[in-house]
Amino acid sequence: MSLKRKNSPKTSLALRLSCLHALVLGACSLFSFLAVYTAMVSNVHHRVDERLRHEHSEVASLFSLNAISGIQETLTRLAHAEGTDQVFYRLLDERGVLLAESDAGAWTGLEVEQPALSAAVAGQPFYDGAVVGNSREQARVLYARLSERMILQVALRTAREMQPIRDLRQLFFTFGVLGLVFALIVGWFIVKRALFPLKNMTSTALMIAEGNLEARVEPASRDRELDHLAQAFNLMLDRIQLFVRELREMNDSLAHDLRTVLARINLGAGRLLASRPISEEQESLTVAMVQDSAELLGMLNTVMDLSEINTRIVQPQFAPVDISELSAELFEFFEATAREKQITMQLHGADQAVVLGDRSRLRRALANLLDNAIKYTPEGGRVTVEVRHDKERVTFSVTDSGIGIPAEAQPFIFDRFYRADKSRSSDGHGLGLSLAAAIIQLHGGAIHVQSKEGSGSVFSVSLPQSTPASS
Ligand code: ADP
Repeated sequence: MSLKRKNSPKTSLALRLSCLHALVLGACSLFSFLAVYTAMVSNVHHRVDERLRHEHSEVASLFSLNAISGIQETLTRLAHAEGTDQVFYRLLDERGVLLAESDAGAWTGLEVEQPALSAAVAGQPFYDGAVVGNSREQARVLYARLSERMILQVALRTAREMQPIRDLRQLFFTFGVLGLVFALIVGWFIVKRALFPLKNMTSTALMIAEGNLEARVEPASRDRELDHLAQAFNLMLDRIQLFVRELREMNDSLAHDLRTVLARINLGAGRLLASRPISEEQESLTVAMVQDSAELLGMLNTVMDLSEINTRIVQPQFAPVDISELSAELFEFFEATAREKQITMQLHGADQAVVLGDRSRLRRALANLLDNAIKYTPEGGRVTVEVRHDKERVTFSVTDSGIGIPAEAQPFIFDRFYRADKSRSSDGHGLGLSLAAAIIQLHGGAIHVQSKEGSGSVFSVSLPQSTPASS
């Protein structure tokens, strides 16, 4: 038996859990990295800002000595001393008009930001970030008052200080990707191992579905939770088994009692019928009693057989059955009934169409199809029985030219007690096809119908061919 995949999720639980595990691990690592990264960047800014303040106070001390006349020269000299690509000075008046600046060659893109200037004019030193030069490098900029009406803009490149942080970021992303792959693989194995007992439970459940009510789950040796689940599962199975046994015993004794009573009625009615003298009315009543009790007995046997097959409580004993030979036997049996209705019967057989099965049950299933074909075909019609086989399967089909089955009824004809149209035939209880389908399923086969109302029906049964190895 296999699990039906109806509405089943597309991914496995193990895969989803290991992805989730990797995702959570990745998110935690990213979060920690961001915290460290932010702290390091702010530390660098803090140190560079300290240097900016230092540069500012150096210019301020020189400015008080040289005043405006020598400031251009002072700024150029100071920038050259530290490297013109590392530090830049710009002296502005309170409206932002340039008064003096050091070598600006390496500082393209460094603008005067109006809000920063206004803050500095108001006496508030303003720190800012900027991207400068052709290679678009990071820099820190300080705007601060030098005198009542003059603002000094000092800029320092931060590339050197930021280098270790950039290296760390690179390392994080390289090892982060590798770590995620590793977490995914390790997570997959861990989850697979953790879910292993569930596999055990699934196979036990499938064994039970096959009819083996004795099957039980092995207790989990390591995990307490799974051990509890296994115990609960086994307890549930004990209860179900007990319940099924009680139900079966009750059904058996009920069926046995019913059978005995029906058989007694049937026998009694038969004797009454044989006794003389008997009035016409008594005779017809007794005949009805004999027929009804026989019919009820047959129905009871069918229902019992159906439930035995469906619950698989009794394991079937299979032996090779030649379907060609069985078909010929059935053909002969039904020919007389067909002749009474002037129905032409034909048999197309095949040699060696052998399957592994329960002969009497298979006979019952196939006989049912033939019985229906004759029952639902009007006088003068045709019924053809055909047996075919290929390497893997044996196919038995019955084609009739009868009344056919309405399309809307076809999906239900294999249901218990279903009759397509109760007015079409008086006899029958809608159990024949459900028993036939259950028997064919028990043999690992399939039964199909093709029918058109008013033109006839084709019932075909396909069964796995018995190979020397399987028999
Ligand atoms: P029943 O005892 O009523 O024949 P079945 O289970 O054998 O019960 O069949 C179910 C229903 O399917 C029947 O009532 C009938 O309406 C329809 N049916 C089965 N076989 C045929 C057939 N060969 N031709 C037409 N209708 C059929």
